[in-house]
Amino acid sequence: MVCPEGDVLAMLGGQAVLVNGYKCIGHSLCAEACPVGAITMVMASPSMSADLPYLTPEYETSIQNMFIVGELGGMALIKHAINQGRDCVDNISNRVKAMGAARSVPGGTVAKYPRQKLVMTSPVNFPMYGKFNKLQLSKEELLAFWEKVRQRSDFKVRMGEKVEEIKKEPDGIFTIVTTKGQHRSHTVILGLGKAGIPLKLGVKGEELPKVMYRLLEADHYINKKILVVGGGDSAVEAAMGLASQVGNQVTLSYRKDSFSRIKERNKHRVEEFRRTGKMSVVFNSNPVEFKQDSVLLEVQGKVEEIPNDFVWIFAGGVPPTAFLKKIGIDFGTRDVTLESSKEAKQNAISKKELVEA
Ligand SMILES: Cc1cc2nc3c(=O)[nH]c(=O)nc-3n(C[C@H](O)[C@H](O)[C@H](O)COP(=O)(O)OP(=O)(O)OC[C@H]3O[C@@H](n4cnc5c(N)ncnc54)[C@H](O)[C@@H]3O)c2cc1C
Repeated sequence: MVCPEGDVLAMLGGQAVLVNGYKCIGHSLCAEACPVGAITMVMASPSMSADLPYLTPEYETSIQNMFIVGELGGMALIKHAINQGRDCVDNISNRVKAMGAARSVPGGTVAKYPRQKLVMTSPVNFPMYGKFNKLQLSKEELLAFWEKVRQRSDFKVRMGEKVEEIKKEPDGIFTIVTTKGQHRSHTVILGLGKAGIPLKLGVKGEELPKVMYRLLEADHYINKKILVVGGGDSAVEAAMGLASQVGNQVTLSYRKDSFSRIKERNKHRVEEFRRTGKMSVVFNSNPVEFKQDSVLLEVQGKVEEIPNDFVWIFAGGVPPTAFLKKIGIDFGTRDVTLESSKEAKQNAISKKELVEA
């Protein structure tokens, strides 16, 4: 009952059963709430790790002194990004005396959430602040809190500077080549997230300025005919946000016949929007062309033209996998027979630590 994702666990025939394991994104609230301590969080099967960078329990990649934290390492949720970042810096400070963490844009994915989005967090020990206990707050409140903590501390953030190459020099020091210059560092922590570059559909007319991939301010759009493409949480949240503005006519197009992987609360809300006519949802559909004032939508083999002012596409992103491979980070498990026994032991643990079930 405490799970924000809905029925992940259930009691069947008097036994606790994992009924929708894929919905679990690691809140761990069930384990915290269980009065008899019968629930334990376990890790995903090692086969999943083939898509993920190899990491040691200290979040170190196959390149010594290069670390990965947050969603890039396979675990979503803000609390995991915070906990891993903090633990990682603590570990590094045991290895080297002075250490700072830098990210290109403070706030990362959170800064790009729609305005006033309600963010679910868990109690977390926040570096340079202490216990942070809020469970729900707005995106703006969370960003303001982070900014306050950042101002208190002395680490530098270089904004608008993209890391393009990281090379390990013969002296063991990294050279980090960015769009604005070069830096040298003993240690690198990559917290690049997974959002990457938004995936395009390759549909005719997609280059029109009315076609967008990110929605920050739903209330900037009123009295418009809008198509939202996608079937994940980002798509349905954007569609509902736009449908709540005055006079908008919103159509949500999804290529499958139902939403299978969205949060339970979004499932209920989207059903309510459909039922009350606030928004129309067209399953088994694909846009085939975007025109200046309309969209051609293929619905179960038939093409329909619908009037349209704006299109938002939420088809996922291209993760920074190619970049990680280019700089030499190994993916998946390592051949432990080639490793020293100490490293082999670390591998066995890291396989399990990669993603929470
Ligand atoms: C719509 C949506 C709603 C969500 N809601 C919640 C919620 O309510 N609660 C929750 O706990 N989680 C939620 N999440 C998940 C959560 O936002 C992420 O798991 C978390 O923000 C990941 O943090 P991160 O630091 O790993 O990566 P990010 O926040 O993605 O940060 C990565 C940063 O790295 C930068 N970067 C990338 N490549 C480079 C490069 N080459 N050079 C320099 N900088 C680079 C990016 O610009 C970005 O600033 C949500 C996610 C989405 C998409």
